[in-house]
Amino acid sequence: MNTSLNKIGSQSLSFIESEDPEVHAAIVAEQTRQQEGLEMIASENFTSPAVMQAVGSVLTNKYAEGYPGHRYYGGCEFVDTVEDLARERLKRLFGAEHVNVQPHSGSQANAAVYMTAIAPGDTVLAFDLAHGGHLTHGMKLNASGVLYKFVHYGVRRDDHRLDFDQIASLAREHKPKLIVAGASAYPREIQHGRFAEIAREVGAKLMVDMAHYAGLVAAGIHDNPVPVADFVTSTTHKTLRGPRGGIAMCRAENAKLLDRSVFPGQQGGPLMHVIAGKAVAFAEALRPEFKAYAKQVVANARSLAEALAAGGVKLVSGGTDNHLMLVDVTPLGIGGKLAEETLDRCGITCNKNMIPYDERKPMDPSGIRLGTPALTTRGMGSDEMKRIAAWILRALKSPGDAAVVETTRREVAELAKQFPVPAAKLEEAVAG
Ligand code: PLP
Repeated sequence: MNTSLNKIGSQSLSFIESEDPEVHAAIVAEQTRQQEGLEMIASENFTSPAVMQAVGSVLTNKYAEGYPGHRYYGGCEFVDTVEDLARERLKRLFGAEHVNVQPHSGSQANAAVYMTAIAPGDTVLAFDLAHGGHLTHGMKLNASGVLYKFVHYGVRRDDHRLDFDQIASLAREHKPKLIVAGASAYPREIQHGRFAEIAREVGAKLMVDMAHYAGLVAAGIHDNPVPVADFVTSTTHKTLRGPRGGIAMCRAENAKLLDRSVFPGQQGGPLMHVIAGKAVAFAEALRPEFKAYAKQVVANARSLAEALAAGGVKLVSGGTDNHLMLVDVTPLGIGGKLAEETLDRCGITCNKNMIPYDERKPMDPSGIRLGTPALTTRGMGSDEMKRIAAWILRALKSPGDAAVVETTRREVAELAKQFPVPAAKLEEAVAG
């Protein structure tokens, strides 16, 4: 790691530097890692300096259990303003009747909706984790899988697309109280209307967890689930590019119950500094520039996917419609674990991932998941994606070759230098 770049992070962190050199050193090293490497984890992004300032603000000091105008603590007039701004902007962003901006994470948003919509022991139909679903959609070690009876749908074996015939027939057979749509690793657009039809037919409620693609929905380039779903949840830190956190939305008739399920159902005091960061991020997402950003995220994913497929790897479903792709690396004679480790050594960060019908184990699956939200925030476009695809292919074709790793690492660092991370702006401003 190039320590000369360690001055990134030193300006705005001067208090930590003197008070706690150990934590300071780790933060600076992480900031250098983010600047010098290529972040291709599909669920990560870089927030704006404004979001980071909000999250690092004095609002972290305030207790505000309850909701604006109805708090269990005094002195909440200013945090009320912040939460109202976040709520009003979020409603406008997705056209929601009611929103809750307090969930500390996507997982807590989902838990709150389960608590609102169903009772322990009820049956839920959701996307299989091994095909691209999420832990909170009924994995047996997660609270969702412990409390509720989950049945899972998957993708078709031949084209890796959601199989609505299977979803409808499972719904008719198991009569779930709730159907969950949404995914962590599905490279295609999700047709929420088809889920809504099935839910209506069997008398189930519909929850859509749009954690991954919320930014694309906000930009109007992915189908918006809000008009057809009873509940919509999301994280705020993936394509939506806000601070780490969750949100939940519903129709007006469920507003009271949902709010009660978030607080006091799942949580105590809200993280007001994070809610301020959410408000700032929602305002950013309402601007035309965000639409252009989201379009570029998808265009970049397409360029990357095409270049990778042309170079000899297989893509789950044959490509991508959104911000991510699942790459089957086994045609190169390696597994996902070695692929992730090799790319990591080159300065390219991604995660190993199961592919549908994977015959390998979760700790060494057949694939890796790659996403373009973070690189696009840095300003990279199609040309950069093609160069990166070539580096990925070269590295994965010779995973044990130290010279290839070294060359790739140097090329990655040179490219990264040309596209500063947003945190660098914060540093420049502090340095004056
Ligand atoms: N839902 C989906 C679809 C996700 O992909 C994730 C995170 O990866 C979550 C929920 C959980 O979010 P968090 O990590 O904030 O709890």
